[in-house]
Amino acid sequence: MNDQTADVVVLGAGIVGVSAAYAARQRGLSVVLIDRREPGSETSYGNSGVLSSGSISPLNKPSLWSALPKYLTNRHPALRWDPAWAIRNIDWIVRFLANATPSQIKPRATALHGLIGASLKLHREWIVQADAAARIRETGWLRVWRSDAVAAAKQEQALLAEYGIASQLLDRQAISALEPDIVPIYSVGLLHTQTASVDSPGAVVKAYARMLAGSGGQIRQSDIKAIVPDGEGWRVVLADGAIKARHVVVALGPWSAELLRPLGYRIPLAFERGYHQEFRPNPARSLQRPIHDAEGAFVMTPMEQGIRITTGVELTSRDAPSSFAQLDQVIPVARGVAEFGEAVGEPWRGARPTLPDSLPMIGPAPQHSGLWLCFGHQHIGFTTGPASGVAIAAMIAGTPPPFDAAPFSPGRYL
Ligand SMILES: Cc1cc2nc3c(=O)[nH]c(=O)nc-3n(C[C@H](O)[C@H](O)[C@H](O)COP(=O)(O)OP(=O)(O)OC[C@H]3O[C@@H](n4cnc5c(N)ncnc54)[C@H](O)[C@@H]3O)c2cc1C
Repeated sequence: MNDQTADVVVLGAGIVGVSAAYAARQRGLSVVLIDRREPGSETSYGNSGVLSSGSISPLNKPSLWSALPKYLTNRHPALRWDPAWAIRNIDWIVRFLANATPSQIKPRATALHGLIGASLKLHREWIVQADAAARIRETGWLRVWRSDAVAAAKQEQALLAEYGIASQLLDRQAISALEPDIVPIYSVGLLHTQTASVDSPGAVVKAYARMLAGSGGQIRQSDIKAIVPDGEGWRVVLADGAIKARHVVVALGPWSAELLRPLGYRIPLAFERGYHQEFRPNPARSLQRPIHDAEGAFVMTPMEQGIRITTGVELTSRDAPSSFAQLDQVIPVARGVAEFGEAVGEPWRGARPTLPDSLPMIGPAPQHSGLWLCFGHQHIGFTTGPASGVAIAAMIAGTPPPFDAAPFSPGRYL
């Protein structure tokens, strides 16, 4: 059987790959998008659904140092870690911590602000074009503290303000006015007013994938086995055949590093795993928006199926068996805040793909022409997928991306 051919083959149909494929198609290129599952079935399915205007300050910031003693106990819901993994990956940990310095805040915040701003604009356009506008809620996202954390909230607000990102500082009464159905246990809140959320991230990715198919892009379901240089371009070997293309975009999220190894690339990608469990909502006691309990280390999002509780970070290997310790810790705490019914379905686990500087790779592979890398979007990939994909399509076409992509260059690690 002859190999299929295309201008661009995109590997991975999460939010990042679907976006890259759609953007390439919009430029008139023939596109095949490949995934072994349906679009939006993995990390892009199980996240908290926050389209965050304010996530410009990655986890490895200076305040991480003062939090380390409590994380070292390995009992905190914000961070669990596997000691054996930590020993094997000490190099990644050292590089991650080396970025948690004051001098590293501004450059990364500036870079992420550009990426996030461009991406939110695209999400707001695409979700309408994809006939999924009913899924987006423009109600902001609420970060809350039980303790008197006014200073911490003000510090966050000041950083956001430097970038023109609006937020409102709230006291207990103002929090109750916004969320009348939660127990008034939070004394401080910061409402990110320009943040939106969706009621089913997986359904949004599927809607974008339908938009891609409607514009003439092809979606093929198959297991990707290898990426092999082939003359001027590439041959992507699948479980059921192969595709030849001038350009290949690797958008495999937490699975991106393996297929690049045989090409000589050693990607320092780690996995900030996270879990969710959904619960039947109580129609008489609803949530208006995602709420992040900063000290309890969980997010509660009202979703199509019910209330989704998502956990903090578990640092271990991507495929290690699940540990539900963090879910077990936070669910009773969440029940003390909001009223919801019994669990719906099984707990879900995913892996946030993270590079040591917490910035994704968006750009050309340094040693190969026509090979494009687009992964490592850590906690904010659902937000930043669209502009990441649009940037790759722009680079393929030789035009400038809609934000400064230099800080995301794969060359910084490869
Ligand atoms: C608990 C949790 C909460 C989060 N909350 C938010 C949030 O509120 N807002 C936000 O912006 N981000 C959030 N994130 C982060 C976000 O979900 C990710 O950054 C984003 O989904 C990554 O998208 P992706 O397209 O790179 O990867 P994925 O969605 O994982 O897509 C990769 C695809 O590659 C496919 N694949 C892999 N290997 C192969 C192969 N060999 N052959 C064929 N197909 C293959 C997979 O099937 C998968 O569909 C959260 C993450 C977690 C875990």
